[in-house]
Amino acid sequence: MRRILPALLMTLLIGPARGQSSSVVEAIYQEGTERSQIVDLAQYLADVIGPRLTASPGHERAIDWAMAQLGNWGISSTREAQGTWRSWRRGLVSLDLIEPRLRSLEGQLLSWSPGTEGSVEGGVITLPDLRGAEQFRNWLAMAEGQFVLLSAYEPTCRPAAVWEEYGGAAARSEFEARRKAARDAWQTRVSNLGLTNQEIVDELEAAGVAGFFTNLWTGERGTDRVFPLSYSFRGAMNHRAAAFNLSCEDYGLLYRLAERGQGPVVRAYGEAEHLGETAAHNLIAVIPGRELPGEYVLLSAHFDAWDGSSGMTDNGTGSVTMMEAARILKLHYPNPRRTIIVGLWSGEEQGLNGSRAYAADHPEVIDGLQALFNQDNGTGRIARIDMQGLTGALPHFKRWFNRIPRGLVEGIELVAPGSPGQAGSDYVSFVCAGAPAFNLASDEFDYRDGTWHTNRDTFDKISPDDLRDNATLVALLAYLAAEGERLPRARDSRDEWPTCQLPDRSTGDRFRE
Ligand SMILES: [Zn+2]
Repeated sequence: MRRILPALLMTLLIGPARGQSSSVVEAIYQEGTERSQIVDLAQYLADVIGPRLTASPGHERAIDWAMAQLGNWGISSTREAQGTWRSWRRGLVSLDLIEPRLRSLEGQLLSWSPGTEGSVEGGVITLPDLRGAEQFRNWLAMAEGQFVLLSAYEPTCRPAAVWEEYGGAAARSEFEARRKAARDAWQTRVSNLGLTNQEIVDELEAAGVAGFFTNLWTGERGTDRVFPLSYSFRGAMNHRAAAFNLSCEDYGLLYRLAERGQGPVVRAYGEAEHLGETAAHNLIAVIPGRELPGEYVLLSAHFDAWDGSSGMTDNGTGSVTMMEAARILKLHYPNPRRTIIVGLWSGEEQGLNGSRAYAADHPEVIDGLQALFNQDNGTGRIARIDMQGLTGALPHFKRWFNRIPRGLVEGIELVAPGSPGQAGSDYVSFVCAGAPAFNLASDEFDYRDGTWHTNRDTFDKISPDDLRDNATLVALLAYLAAEGERLPRARDSRDEWPTCQLPDRSTGDRFRE
């Protein structure tokens, strides 16, 4: 039944095969929906390889694996250097509260942090409530050999929805008020020191602190954002003392013990290796075009990830979607009219670095780009495609959608003219270069606070059916764009559009947020 049904559906939805092209659509649809390999790809990437911090050994290993997969499918690929980044490897970590009682703490070393050089034991203190740099400097002697808590305290680690369920709207607003008050008080405490966060960290390190603890709870149970110390995207603020994220509950435990003078002592062990400034690589795979080899359809996703967990939904899912689409295309559309490229970028998290470098290094691809399809917001069903100011692209999408089985495109919102180039993800690197590039925006699917940049971005969070359908849709869009008329490039002129903006992610604070 499962084998017959899709074929029958195809006939009902798009009519009987009309020669070659309809049978390609049907073959792609059947391959993608009946013989999908995307869950296996996602499982290997998340579970065997894991996090892929830009230029780290994990990132390089992921590229090796993807190149081997593509090779098995008969697709050749290359590693293209896109500049350098600091390479870092996480090692073993253990964290225990040893006074006033024993408890193993749930935490991890923050990326680009130095390690502890063996096991370190020390008391725990919060940043002090003082006025001005001079008072702070006089206090600093107290910090020697201590672990310093750098983040705001969360009065509760129960999500807002739980307060609302058991206490109604009043309990929820009480929760929100307590949370805001704690954050505001902390922000005031930090700014009262009259120093930048970098200066505070530098002075604490110079005073010989044992290490730092932070927490950035998302508001969902057990879920923290895990950045390097600083939230600067470029690297960590700490260069001598190790910085660890702790769970909301364990951070709160240490905070209460420290603020009430109840003598917390922690033993911490954290290994980390700095491997120096290293080449960061994009992975570029190519299925050459038979008729218009100098025109391109580009399937785009970033392969790098933060290393708080496995980087499954940001952006493992987008990456395996593009790989699976390439597998399907190579099987059922091996000689495309236009060249099909898969770009798995590096350094998206540090400022779209890989895709920007690729766009700059490949003017021939920019000139010949028919369309780019990017995916980068989790595991949900593709729900919206913004024309990025290219209203003339809309009829093309509508024509393509008419050729695609309804189940894959039903409900997808096509937004025209849309708003071009507002940061976000790698498609912006191409929009800003003047080329037709589109983002396949997924349903939220608990992305923002459930997985994105967190310690819970793991394999179990995938939605297998949505991934399967998304990859099939991408393969069909690639096929139809590779065959169809050339897309227009002229954007609608509308004064209110902001100028094309690439992200500036060089500023920001982790423990002031
Ligand atoms: Zn992403």
